[in-house]
This record gives sequence, structure tokens and C-alpha cells, in this order.
Amino acid sequence: MSFPPFAATSAAFTPCADARNFIGGAFVSPQVDAGTLPVHNPRHGAVMAQVHLSGAADVDAAVKAAEAALPAWRALPVRDRAQVFYRLRERMAAEIESLTWLVSHENGKVYAEARAEVEKAIECVEFGCSLANLAAGGQIDVSKGVNCAETYEPLGVVAGVTPFNFPLMVPLWMLPQALVGGNAFVLKPSERVPLSTQRLAVLLREAGLPDGIFNIVNGTQPVVEALCDHPRIRALGFVGSTRVAKLVYGRASAAGKRALCLGGAKNHLIVVPDADVDLSAENIVASFAGCAGQRCMAASVLVAVGDCERVLDAIVEKAGRLRTGVDMGPVISAAAHARITGAITRAAEEGAVVRLDGRGASADAGGYWVGPTILDRVRPDMPAGCEEIFGPVLSIVRVATVDEAIAIENANPYGNASSVFTTSGAVARYVMGRVEAGMCGVNVGVPVPREPFGFAGWNDSAFGHGNLTGWDGFRFWTRARKVTSKWALQSDWTWMS
Ligand code: NAD
Repeated sequence: MSFPPFAATSAAFTPCADARNFIGGAFVSPQVDAGTLPVHNPRHGAVMAQVHLSGAADVDAAVKAAEAALPAWRALPVRDRAQVFYRLRERMAAEIESLTWLVSHENGKVYAEARAEVEKAIECVEFGCSLANLAAGGQIDVSKGVNCAETYEPLGVVAGVTPFNFPLMVPLWMLPQALVGGNAFVLKPSERVPLSTQRLAVLLREAGLPDGIFNIVNGTQPVVEALCDHPRIRALGFVGSTRVAKLVYGRASAAGKRALCLGGAKNHLIVVPDADVDLSAENIVASFAGCAGQRCMAASVLVAVGDCERVLDAIVEKAGRLRTGVDMGPVISAAAHARITGAITRAAEEGAVVRLDGRGASADAGGYWVGPTILDRVRPDMPAGCEEIFGPVLSIVRVATVDEAIAIENANPYGNASSVFTTSGAVARYVMGRVEAGMCGVNVGVPVPREPFGFAGWNDSAFGHGNLTGWDGFRFWTRARKVTSKWALQSDWTWMS
């Protein structure tokens, strides 16, 4: 069994090889027969592959393969481990077209969005390469003749669980730091998009990663629970919805693991009357409608302070020009389609003014299409004002002052992203100093802190300490060893003295 490069060169429906477990350097069928699930191409609403589901025995098999490979891998100097990622980078760059189409087909993103995801995934790999230089640790004489040196040591076998919205990039938020850090990894990708990581496994192997250092166990809740419970998995990274992030954080922590679980979001953007119309409209539309609104950093609530009509009109006009199927892809599933259109209908019934209606959008037959939707006069306590919709829907809330806007933002339990749109430095500083969010922007719709900065929200958007990417990610997957040395009774003494 292997997993060849994806054959598609356009958005036309293309079947793909099935997703199987990858354990000890080989694709294998699960030991536990938990059945299969169809992997839908959301643009066509058609099944492109099956994913073979697993159970706890498969997690155990992956851990055993990882443990067998670990001693030789952790004994390599960090520079040698980083070399694998230099070669992975070259392979991903050489195969970028095929990877882009694979992401596009399994997730639904249009080509440009899928390409941006693969490029961002490559950036994550580059951060892994840089660890050969960054991961030096430190040393200092802590008293006369006594030296203390700190090094970053691997934890052992570690695991990751990832969501559907970035099939390639989010696994690569974890793998470079964890593997260059000297660990072995068991990944449980989203069962809705398990295909991109199948190809990643092949590329990592071709790049020289020893068999057993990267493993995939496909499945759903039972596999995640087995990863949380397994006594020899030392750390777990999770990215997904808040409901599941909380459950996984609790379960993994109760089993004594280090856990960092990133959750969902309800990102608030604040716009004030002096905002630049074109800059704001461009960024806000790209933020709420890009990737069909299925980004944890997507704009969800736009809090308009005072008279912002020119900006709001420009947003409606610009979003209205987006073409589903060309500028925007579908949402992930029929269930997501029903949830999102249902949320729009409910908001309208509760008094929101539907300024742009994405219900009834269409492009390729069979796809799960929702067009850009703008709801005006939403109240913060309405579901459209406070619950994650995870679709291309922007809820506009109107307030009179910046302080009211900040209060609304801070009353929502999430804390992933927040942005302000203004031409005033004073307003920007005032807002940035007060909003409860981990990733903030000034005139930026999707304020992702790219490498080398770390990615994580605050409050109900993240459970656990620190960031999953950047340097914090490396520290999450490693532990510090301090070696304190003394070589003589007195600091100025040698055997020749
Ligand atoms: P999800 O929570 O449904 O699934 C995430 C992972 O958890 C999947 O691998 C899934 O198989 C597994 N899972 C699902 N239910 C489970 C359960 N009951 N017990 C154990 N495991 C379970 O999320 P999704 O729908 O795949 O992704 C969308 C969500 O992810 C959104 O809420 C989005 O905001 C969030 N997200 C957050 C970030 C971030 O960095 N904070 C990034 C991307 C996506």
C-alpha cells in the first residue's frame, strides 16, 4: 500500500486512495475494525475516498512502533533531525501543485486558499529547520567554579489531534517542533480530511524520517480517548472546537499528560468612523468570507462604533461581488450547511436585518454552498452575536462608544482574535491594550501571528499553557534538563596547582 501524489489538476471531481493508518513506516489496515467513513469532496458533495477507522489497539500499536524507533532518533544531534525538515521543505515545494489540489478537494477551499495553506505549512516546516540554530539552550557559572547548563530534552512519544479546516497546516503546527525536538509522534487527523496527511507521511519518509517516528491512526472519538488515556504518551496537542478541546484537555490532564488544546472562537472586529474605507472593507470581507468562514481566526462580529456607514456599505458591496465556486469554496458538509443556513434564518427571525443573504447560493451541483452573508442590527445576546457559526456570516452590532465595543468583545467567553480598524494610533493603542484576545490586529482582518511568533488564543479559545507554534511549541514538546557541574574543590585549582 502506498499513497501516490494526488492526480487532480483542476477542481473537477477526482477520486483518491483510501486513508489508512501509517504505523512503523507503512500503511496498514486497522487492527480494530471500526468500519469506514466516506471522505466527501464538499464542492461536489461526492465521495472521493474512504477512511478506515481504528480503535485503542491501533493507538497501542503506533505507540509501540514509536517507542522502538525513539532511541536512535533522540540520539541524533538536533542538526541531523532538522535536516529531515530541510528535505521535507524541498519535497513539499516540488509537489506544491498536487498538495494544493489535495487540500482543495478534501476541504473545499478554492485553489488560491489551498495554495496559501500549503505555503503556510511550508513556513511551519522552515521554523523546524531553524530549530537547529535556535534550540541551543544555555549555560552560566552560577557561582565560582560551578556551572549550570540547560538543554531541551524530548518527552518521548507524543500525540496530536487536528480539525478539518486546515488538513495540512495544522498538523505542521506540531510536527516540526515535536520531531526536531527528538520525540516520536502519533497523529489523529480529522476523519473528514484525512488525505493530506497520508501524503505528508510519504514525503516525511522520503525526506529521511526513520520509520516509526511519525505515525497516523485514523478514527473518531474512541481514538482520541485512547490517545488521552495511553500511559506512555507524554503530551497531547489538540486543535478543534471548544467543546471537544475542554473534554480532551480534562481527560489528557487527568491521565498525567502535558496538554495544550486550542478551541473555537467568536472573533470581534471593532470599526470606528475614521477607519480607511478600502483597507477596512478589503480586510473584513477577506476575514469573514475567506475559506468560507471556516477559520478559527475569521471575523464573526463586527462592532460598529457610531457612524461607520461608508465602511459598512463598502463591505456589503465587496462581499456581494464574491462568486461562490470561484472566489469562495463550499462549507465542509451537508450538516455544516444546515447549521449555518439555520443560524441565518434564526437571526432573521430574531430581528437581524439580512443585508446580504448567502442562503440559496450555488456553484457545482451537489456541493455544500453558502454565500457571504451579512446580518445587521444583531444584538450581542442573540446566537448570531455570541455563538460560533463557523461559516461565511458577519454579524454587525452597533454601539455608540469604543468602550461599549470593548465591553461587548470582552463579555464573550472566547479570546482567539480581535482587530480594530482605525486611522488613529491613539484608538488602536486604547483598544489593543484592553481587548481580551490572544491574537490582535490593527487594520488586519486575520491577525495570525506567523512564525516565529506563537499561535494560541485566550480564555475559552485555548486550554493549557502557552502557544502551539513558534518557540513556545518547541518548549511544549520538550522538557528542560539542568546540569550543574563542579570540577574542582576551588575554582582556581587544577591537579597541577
Ligand atoms: P471538532 O472539535 O469537531 O474536531 C476536532 C478533532 O476532534 C477531530 O480530529 C475529531 O475527530 C475530534 N473529535 C470530535 N469530537 C470528539 C469527541 N467528542 N471526543 C474526542 N475527540 C473528538 O472540530 P472541527 O469541526 O474539526 O473543526 C472546527 C473547529 O475547530 C472550530 O470550532 C474552530 O474554531 C476550531 N479551530 C480552532 C483553531 C485554533 O487554533 N484555536 C484552529 C482551527 C480550528
